[in-house]
Amino acid sequence: MKKLVAFDLDGTLAESKQPLKDDMAESIADLLTVADVCVISGGDWPQFEKQVASRLPARANLERLWLMPTTGTKLYTYRDGKWGAVYAELFSDEERKTIIDAFNASLEATGFKPEQTWGDLVEDRGSQVTFSALGQQAPVAEKEHWDPDFAKRRIIQADLKTRLPGLAINMGGATSIDITREGVDKAYGLEQLSKHSSFELASFLFIGDAIFPGGNDYPPKEKLGLDCVKVRDPGDTINVIAAIVACQK
Ligand SMILES: [Mg+2]
Repeated sequence: MKKLVAFDLDGTLAESKQPLKDDMAESIADLLTVADVCVISGGDWPQFEKQVASRLPARANLERLWLMPTTGTKLYTYRDGKWGAVYAELFSDEERKTIIDAFNASLEATGFKPEQTWGDLVEDRGSQVTFSALGQQAPVAEKEHWDPDFAKRRIIQADLKTRLPGLAINMGGATSIDITREGVDKAYGLEQLSKHSSFELASFLFIGDAIFPGGNDYPPKEKLGLDCVKVRDPGDTINVIAAIVACQK
């Protein structure tokens, strides 16, 4: 019996960095009537607030919602009418500089330095550094064309691994690569959630669009053996949620 359904965000609940659409927000509200829900993604809290927290309808039971920014190195819950951090783990200044230098060296070495970019390429999220190949403000259409089959990022990822031993390097949204402390991935995040929520991992179901080797949704399946459903896009996710709600109520 599943008690908690955990989701990736970008590509699963919403298009890259876009707010949840109305039909998805209603779907999540339905799901919250039959299960606890977690959203775990590389984005930081402000992004979660914009994409998820502020989008849910008034009827949504927010006290059953667990939001895990920066791949679960932070946990936010809704108590007494407001969102608050339960915990947050951060990188040191030295670790941060090493990572950013490695990104720049890796882009030069692989030849994947894009000709045009929109905004900063590197985003410092405290406990995670995220590299967006085309920049943080790149239009969705441009991002979709850049690396739809993850081919470029697999090469950059392999190069980065040689430069950043001891750090976890995973492909994220449409153009991004997430760097965290070794051992920090969605498996780690969901283990933390199990501790803080008192739900056993066996009662979790995990849903994501990147459940394949090298994808940032793969660790919960590979390391924890969680029951997982791989979805193609948010439309696909809505169908999966409808099935879960019908079976659980
Ligand atoms: Mg995704």
